[in-house]
Amino acid sequence: MSYKITLIPGDGIGPEVTDAAVRVLEATGIEFRWETVEVGAGAMEKYGTPLPDSVLESIRKNKVALKGPVTTPVGSGFRSVNVALRKSLELYTCLRPCKTYPGAPSRYDNIDLVVVRENIEDLYSGIEFEKGAPETDRLIHLISEVKQETIRADSGISIKTISEMRSERIVRFAFDYARKYGRKKVTAVHKANIMKYSDGLFLAVARKVAAGYSDIEFEDRIVDNMSMQLVQKPQQFDVLVAPNLYGDILSDLCAGLIGGLGLAPGANLSDDIAIFEATHGSAPKYTGMNKANPMAMMLSGVLMLRHLGEADAADEVEKAIAGVIAEGKSVTYDLKPEAPQTAAGTSQVADAVIRRLRRS
Ligand code: NAD
Repeated sequence: MSYKITLIPGDGIGPEVTDAAVRVLEATGIEFRWETVEVGAGAMEKYGTPLPDSVLESIRKNKVALKGPVTTPVGSGFRSVNVALRKSLELYTCLRPCKTYPGAPSRYDNIDLVVVRENIEDLYSGIEFEKGAPETDRLIHLISEVKQETIRADSGISIKTISEMRSERIVRFAFDYARKYGRKKVTAVHKANIMKYSDGLFLAVARKVAAGYSDIEFEDRIVDNMSMQLVQKPQQFDVLVAPNLYGDILSDLCAGLIGGLGLAPGANLSDDIAIFEATHGSAPKYTGMNKANPMAMMLSGVLMLRHLGEADAADEVEKAIAGVIAEGKSVTYDLKPEAPQTAAGTSQVADAVIRRLRRS
């Protein structure tokens, strides 16, 4: 069996960590045919757009992609390629498992959490009004007319939308995932006490969906309390389901609980397309330094193998990564806080994982 996969190396540390992940995936003996495509600043220069149609076509055709991180200019410049990909391909679920591996520098043992993040709407949907633009002025006037609320004229505005359909779809995904993988509890995260018509709707839908899954425990938490409890007692949680922005923030928090972004994998899923990518970004300051931890990308590759039905290979790669972490020799600086000067480089981590794979 050979798999054709769209490969997006990304930028910053992306090309290094994807190269390491590709080498490890190929060492399983499974045959991959990579269709490599470019997005972001490089694509902007060559094709005049950060997300060429040919990239979307490649993913639609292959159905599976492995993606490195892509830099989004802050404040101005082109809009996020990551958000555009998720919206264009209706990748409505962002799945981010966070698990402790013995030997990783974490404050906790035995964490095994999964963050299920709605990936399309909320404040992330990209409906934005720039300060001073004529349409912003019109919106401000409209709001003062229909709501009798005053918004300062020098405001920028981002719109938060939460729909019934998309809330139901993501909460259902979380419960189905919990059922499929033998998990016990789903916790919905929101701020419904303040945002009654957006987060309130999300919570109402979550409660309704939960009623149909009597075998799985359901609870909800307000996002500020949730953040505190995750730091104090993370073991009480199992599957978290959240609207886009809280899901984004909490997945980095959960990565922090298990030893950092270098160990946090992820997947963006629609009903028929899957893009696997780490939670972390392009960490530009480490570009080309052979320094970044490739394990989050490799673990995203493990999720990809499971998605492809290659469960044995997925288990083997995960075991090899866990072995390298436990041994603690060939790991990057982030997993060696006590002796970063003895850390291995990105490609040496790949070599060590591959050696273990060959031994097994
Ligand atoms: P980041 O995740 O890139 O990096 C934050 C810090 O985390 C780094 O400085 C580094 O100390 C550490 N880190 C991250 N990945 C690591 C790794 N693999 N190994 C070791 N340490 C690692 O976050 P940022 O600096 O806020 O974002 C940089 C750029 O990435 C921005 O342009 C942002 O928009 C983009 N971004 C892209 C994606 C994506 O492509 N999916 C996701 C998040 C951020």
